[in-house]
Amino acid sequence: LTLVSFKITILGSSGAVPAFGRFPSSQLIDVQHNHFLVDCGEGSQMQLARFNGNLHGIDHIFISHLHGDHYLGLMGLIFTMHLHHREKDLHIYSPHGLQEIITTQLRYSRSVPAYTIVLHTLVPDRPEIIFENKGLTVETIPLRHKLPCTGFLFREKPKPRRIDKNNLPEGLPYYRLNELKAGFDLTDESGKIQYRNADLTLPPCHSRTYAYCSDTAYTESILEQVTGVDVLYHEATFVEADKTKAVDTLHSTAMEAARIARKAHAGKLLLGHFSARYRELDPLLKEAQTIFPETHLATEGQTFTIAE
Ligand SMILES: [Zn+2]
Ligand SMILES: [Zn+2]
Repeated sequence: LTLVSFKITILGSSGAVPAFGRFPSSQLIDVQHNHFLVDCGEGSQMQLARFNGNLHGIDHIFISHLHGDHYLGLMGLIFTMHLHHREKDLHIYSPHGLQEIITTQLRYSRSVPAYTIVLHTLVPDRPEIIFENKGLTVETIPLRHKLPCTGFLFREKPKPRRIDKNNLPEGLPYYRLNELKAGFDLTDESGKIQYRNADLTLPPCHSRTYAYCSDTAYTESILEQVTGVDVLYHEATFVEADKTKAVDTLHSTAMEAARIARKAHAGKLLLGHFSARYRELDPLLKEAQTIFPETHLATEGQTFTIAE
């Protein structure tokens, strides 16, 4: 059995203002050896280098919204890729406005990147599949925030059945394995069943999912999309005692994040986007765990792996 990757590396866990060594939002997501950057707060390229992320492996960057703590690291990253003679296209997905921001900065530095930047504008009011390849899709999750804002749902496609090597009849031609993986019984020329699929195969590996829900007020509107995910990242800017601040700024408390995770029957909850008010994050964790025990702090340098 080959090990196919699905892991989330946290580059930044801070809310609007970086504090206590915490960086603004950014995560490196590796699904089936495709590398995606999700949000790109200030210092993301330094954090990538620090945690052995490969800058050049990233072809797709998803920006949840245009508050500075989610994209101010982009220009640095774009220039570094240029200086390293990148040639591959770079795809960047964001709500409307990023094109103007990027072209203005390039114009005044009289720079033309050696590669093409392909900008994709996201519509924030309905879910949309924005990336698809053979093995996975990425779709947007509309969120409730002061600016148009979307989360991102990474979802592996259904997988083939696995060959049960212990039960394979001797001398079976190799090409027939594809029929088995696709779920067919094996028949002879007359159409008579020689081997039942269920006798020679095992069920497919689990198709894994990860939902990244960046800045948002508490909203159950996301449940339809995030229900049953293996791992849910949900912002948790404040503790419950500061709930009025969360309401005013359209952010969430750790408890609200936990409530969403519980209603969604998520496998695991990751908390992030912590306010600079808190040096210690343990109170946020404890609070959330009273509602959803499988909660973790998504802090810098941590990697969360989803097993197949
Ligand atoms: Zn933010
Ligand atoms: Zn924001």
